[in-house]
Amino acid sequence: MLQHQLPPLPGLLGCHTDPGPLTVQQAHAAMQLHLDCTVDTCRIRRAARTVLVESRHCVLDERALP
Ligand SMILES: [Zn+2]
Repeated sequence: MLQHQLPPLPGLLGCHTDPGPLTVQQAHAAMQLHLDCTVDTCRIRRAARTVLVESRHCVLDERALP
């Protein structure tokens, strides 16, 4: 389990940059930053969603799952 005290990643601002492993807090921040993105086009949002799903902080419609 990763620590949840890491600062936001610089790469979180770019939709096409793989953010690498995210903490739950980073994932929440990423989802806010990329509210207008879709998981189809935004690697940040896709990574963040995965983190939130795995941590069960976010309940998704089944159609949204990979
Ligand atoms: Zn984005």
